[in-house]
Amino acid sequence: MPQAVAPNLPPPPPLPRLREAGRVAVFCDFDGTIVAIADNPDAILVPPGLAARLEALAGRLDGALAIVSGRSVEDLQRYTGPAAVHWAGSHGAEVRTPAGAALSAARAVPGPVSEALAAFAAEHGLHHEAKAHGAALHYRLRPECGDEARRFAANLAAAHGLALKEGKCVIELVWPGMDKGSAVELLAARPPFLGAVPVFIGDDITDEDGFAACKRLGGFGIAVGERSSAAARFALAGIEDVHAWLAL
Ligand SMILES: [Mg+2]
Repeated sequence: MPQAVAPNLPPPPPLPRLREAGRVAVFCDFDGTIVAIADNPDAILVPPGLAARLEALAGRLDGALAIVSGRSVEDLQRYTGPAAVHWAGSHGAEVRTPAGAALSAARAVPGPVSEALAAFAAEHGLHHEAKAHGAALHYRLRPECGDEARRFAANLAAAHGLALKEGKCVIELVWPGMDKGSAVELLAARPPFLGAVPVFIGDDITDEDGFAACKRLGGFGIAVGERSSAAARFALAGIEDVHAWLAL
């Protein structure tokens, strides 16, 4: 079945054509953009050879490729293997070079926050994801619990000075001041991203920060799927189109 694209947004110009005009840096979300979203985050299916394909793409972009995700870098690499590309995990709180050097390191949320979310998840039949730098509640299998989960998480965030991030059937608590836009800004200020037109590709609400950062820096965002986007300039219908656009 053909997938709908974000309303009123055209497809992006082909990447080779953009590159004829100058260097391009690509910041790319993971779940829902490169791999299909699964019922719970442990159940994703990663295309074979993805690490080598990401490295080849990074080579074509003179190194200016970063995977930017809500997952931790460690979690991402559990699925891809240690691809030699830039990584920005935990919603931008954790940024690493292809050689593994940390440009920004995240800290864990307080234990009681994670414990409270785990207890709420157990009580309501939701999936609690304990992360090194945050804590998430997934309600994909119990969508009717979304509103209550959101209220619970918002109160918990307020009580502990944390920020609440919302995605597709997921609510996450993280330290404030970090988002996918802050990761773009950090990387865009240094080689090999410096001086390239920044492009952010993503399918979810948290990607809007990345779109907006690229726009501020003279680039643009590409929204994936049918969700309407406030800050993206272009849209692609789904994961296959992202792979085709990137020649991944
Ligand atoms: Mg996503």
